[in-house]
Amino acid sequence: MDSNILIVEDNADNRQLLAWLVEDAGYPHTEVGTAEQCFLMLEEQAVSLILMDISLPGMDGLTATKKLKRELLTSHIPVVACTGLEVKGRESALLEAGFDALLTKPVSYQLLHTVLEKFTPTVH
Ligand SMILES: [Mg+2]
Repeated sequence: MDSNILIVEDNADNRQLLAWLVEDAGYPHTEVGTAEQCFLMLEEQAVSLILMDISLPGMDGLTATKKLKRELLTSHIPVVACTGLEVKGRESALLEAGFDALLTKPVSYQLLHTVLEKFTPTVH
């Protein structure tokens, strides 16, 4: 089974950077700009891991992740927060809220790769 990574990020530059990093690590991926689109995408595709921005237009990444973790069909999907400085000091609260891991932006290739290997089922 291929690991499909879903990138949820509203900033086009950040989204592009994440897409490049994920692609370079050898994983197929899908990109969306809002949490609402993320939920729609999950109805259409099998997703192995979600990279979730926190600050999003509409539903924010924290609320979206709590919702994903409450739903039977999506609760098993690892969700990794891609955070900016706005979450400084709230890291443990984010993990308690349901995120499986946190990555600070700008995301480094090395850390992203570690997270992808840890949370996706296939070996790359
Ligand atoms: Mg954002």
